[in-house]
Amino acid sequence: MTTKDLRGQETAKAMGAALAPRINALKSRRIIPTLAIVRVGEKPDDVYYQRSATRRCEALGISVEVYAFSEGIAEEQLVNEIMNLNMDEHIHGILILRPLPGHIDDAVVCKALNPGKDVDGVTDRSLAGVMKNERRGFSPCTARACIEILDYFGIEIAGRHTVVIGRSLVVGKPLSLMLTARDATVTVCHTKTRDLTAIAKQADILVAAAGRSRMINREYVKEDAVVIDVGINADENGNLTGDVDYEDVRGIASAITPVPGGVGIVTTAVLASQVVEAAEQS
Ligand code: NAD
Repeated sequence: MTTKDLRGQETAKAMGAALAPRINALKSRRIIPTLAIVRVGEKPDDVYYQRSATRRCEALGISVEVYAFSEGIAEEQLVNEIMNLNMDEHIHGILILRPLPGHIDDAVVCKALNPGKDVDGVTDRSLAGVMKNERRGFSPCTARACIEILDYFGIEIAGRHTVVIGRSLVVGKPLSLMLTARDATVTVCHTKTRDLTAIAKQADILVAAAGRSRMINREYVKEDAVVIDVGINADENGNLTGDVDYEDVRGIASAITPVPGGVGIVTTAVLASQVVEAAEQS
C-alpha cells in the first residue's frame, strides 16, 4: 500500500489564497488585521510558535505585535495587560502562549480575554460554540487544523469511525466535538483507556494527540486508515517527533500527516484566518 503524505504546506497555501481577497477588502477600508501575541518568559516552545505564527501572518499581510513579559509577572498585572489589549481597537486578535508559569492561573487569564478577540479558542464562549456547533467565538486552532487537512485532501468524515487519542481542551476534546458535528462516529481515548491498541485499530481516521513520542506504531493502525499526527515532541536525541512512528506506519495507513510538515503548519494558517475573521467582525 502506498501511503500518501498529507502535507500541511498545501492546505496552508490554499487557506492563504482564500484569505488574500478578504485581507485586501479590509485594507481598502483602512483596517490592517492585527494579532497581539502575549508571551510570558522565554520558553523555547513559545518562542518557536511565536516566530512561526508571526512568519505566517506577516506573509499574508497580517500585522503582529508581541507583548513579552518577564517570567515573574504577577497574575493581576498580566490580567490588566490583557484588559488593555481588549480595549485597544487596533488589535483584532489576542493569542496567549500557554501554559503560563505555575504562579499564574491559566483559567483566570483566559477569562479576562474578550471572546471577540479570542482567536485561539480558549474562552468559555469559544468552547461553548464548539460544544453547541454554533458560530460564537473561535475554534481552538489545532483542532480546526485537523479538520482543514481532512477537508483539503477530500477525506470523507461523515459516518466514519474516528478515534481521537487525547482529551485536552486544546486539541482532543474540541476536535472530538467538531468531528461529531461533521457526523463522524467518534471514540475518545486517554490515559485510562483499556486496550488502546484494539480501539485505535478500529479507526478509519486515527488522530494521535497524546504528546508521546512515536507511541503509535503499526499495531495501532488499521490497513488503509488515515492518520493525523498532532504530536510535537522531542525524542531522546532531541529530534522533533510526532506521536506516530511514521516509518513503521507507512505502508499500512492510506495517508498520514508528517511531523514536521503536517498539522503544525496548518495551525498557524488557521490562526491567521481567525485573525482576519475577528477583524471583519470588529
Ligand atoms: P496534553 O498533555 O494536555 O494532553 C494529552 C492527552 O493525551 C491527555 O488527554 C491524556 O489523557 C492523553 N494521553 C497521554 N498519554 C497517553 C497514552 N499513553 N495513551 C492514551 N492517551 C494518552 O497535550 P496537548 O496539549 O493536547 O498536546 C498533545 C500533543 O499535541 C503534544 O505533543 C503537543 O505538543 C502537540 N500539539 C501540537 C500542536 C500543533 O500545532 N501541531 C498544537 C498543540 C499541541
